[in-house]
Amino acid sequence: MKTISTYNFKGKRALIRVDFNVPLNKQTLEVTDATRIKAAVQTIKKVLNDGGSVVLMSHLGRPKNVPEPIFSLKNIVSTVEKELGQSISFASDCIGERAFEKSATLQPGEVLLLENLRFHQREKKGGEDFAELLSKHGDVYINDAFGTAHRAHASTTIVAKFFPEDKMFGYLIEKEIESVDKVLNSTQKPLTAIVGGAKVSSKITIITKLLDKVDSLIIGGGMAYTFAKALGGNVGNSLIEDDYIQTANEIIAEAKAKNVKLLIPADTVAADEFSDEAKTQVCNTNEIPDGWMGLDIGEGAAEAFKSEILASKLILWNGPMGVFEMNKFQKGTKEIALAVAEATEKGAFSLVGGGDSVAAVNKFDLGKRVSHVSTGGGAMLEYLEGKQLPGIAAILND
Ligand code: AMP
Repeated sequence: MKTISTYNFKGKRALIRVDFNVPLNKQTLEVTDATRIKAAVQTIKKVLNDGGSVVLMSHLGRPKNVPEPIFSLKNIVSTVEKELGQSISFASDCIGERAFEKSATLQPGEVLLLENLRFHQREKKGGEDFAELLSKHGDVYINDAFGTAHRAHASTTIVAKFFPEDKMFGYLIEKEIESVDKVLNSTQKPLTAIVGGAKVSSKITIITKLLDKVDSLIIGGGMAYTFAKALGGNVGNSLIEDDYIQTANEIIAEAKAKNVKLLIPADTVAADEFSDEAKTQVCNTNEIPDGWMGLDIGEGAAEAFKSEILASKLILWNGPMGVFEMNKFQKGTKEIALAVAEATEKGAFSLVGGGDSVAAVNKFDLGKRVSHVSTGGGAMLEYLEGKQLPGIAAILND
């Protein structure tokens, strides 16, 4: 398999699938968070510095298979130019005649951005004819969009077959794969997984998978109350999935059988309503009064979780400990984020990804203090679950 670091792009046009699905201000349509654009710069610069040219393709938002101005990638041109430090050209239809003229005449050092791929329904359908047209924009294909690697779309998967010799991952995907593999395959111990967020139902596959790997499993967020109820606790009006009580019991039993230390919050910050203005009280998680709901872990739980995290050599974190979007209930998530950062500084490897834990790490400005923040929520979870992602398989397989 070819790799971006060893490939010489001199005189080549690289067709790069990036993930420029960035948030835009609804009124001004300006980019409000350029993280994903910044993340692609290293890959783009490698091609340009070698003496190659670049054709960038991406989706943006969820257009209904037809052009919609609010989802036009034209809105992000100035931000891409700022991050790259050079001007770029734009083609207003990714498979239009002008787009092919522009890509055919690109000079070394030049960059062309194609319009939103999802303005064509054949993108999501994985249309082979559409993928073949896209392939004509480049001599070599680079996939650097981890966030969509779990989808067999034309630009993420199907297009690779038109580059049997010259296809590779960009630096970003390489790092994502390396980070998840490190957590899954490393023999370093102890390995602690922190799983939070709203529901057991959305995390059950990953939890089950993790039980075979981890030494400790910390459960926080809304899903903790289903576990507390399964253990016979009274959890008041907290978020509960009654259909998953049995599942929670099975996880508790399996953890015991596999010698995995399962940590559920002992205390809780309970609120009388789901609001930043709510009255609050701290109580035992299994004694939440009726009419009150648990919206954050308590100080005792945070301390217990922190000491487990600080004793770990590998840490995987997915999902917040509470409703961290509200200032009143952000403390538990913040303390866990700080503990993950501290453990990393002490030499642990930490991977944060999926769900809202990435937003939480960014909210507390700790992105640089953990080993890796994954750009792909669903893709990272599926990869961790051991599924073969089509976008990754398309590069690895001949
Ligand atoms: P997920 O996408 O599954 O990681 O879930 C993230 C969401 O879970 C966030 O929006 C949090 O506000 C929410 N959440 C975390 N803890 C709780 C809780 N105790 N009750 C209700 N929602 C919660």
